[in-house]
Amino acid sequence: MKKFRYKKIECANPDCEVEFIPSRSNQFHCCEACRKRKNYVENKPETDRIRALEIRFKKVDKSLARLYQQMLKMKADKVSKELFGYENIDPFLCNEVRQNPNTNRPIHFFYNYGFEYDGAGFYIIHKMK
Ligand SMILES: [Zn+2]
Repeated sequence: MKKFRYKKIECANPDCEVEFIPSRSNQFHCCEACRKRKNYVENKPETDRIRALEIRFKKVDKSLARLYQQMLKMKADKVSKELFGYENIDPFLCNEVRQNPNTNRPIHFFYNYGFEYDGAGFYIIHKMK
């Protein structure tokens, strides 16, 4: 009869107390579920951070959609810093920066909308095509 080559170890998942004999030297979990669980727990802070950021981006996108509609209503091509400020948009936040080829200024893009500061107290709201 073949003897077990490895010593009994405790499952590396902190929520599991199973002791088992690994079949490979790189097996640290008693089962596939425990292996996945541990990876999930280890990556959770990163996942949470990304999710929180996505929520913020979506909120800004909604605000920009509102401002864009107001801009159309007022037949304006930009909105004032004050109006922009009412939406509580963090001017440093962005999902993606794109250069406006016409002005050479950065556009802070989110999902469907983006904003560009004109350097003179106004924000130009862009709708992604
Ligand atoms: Zn386990």
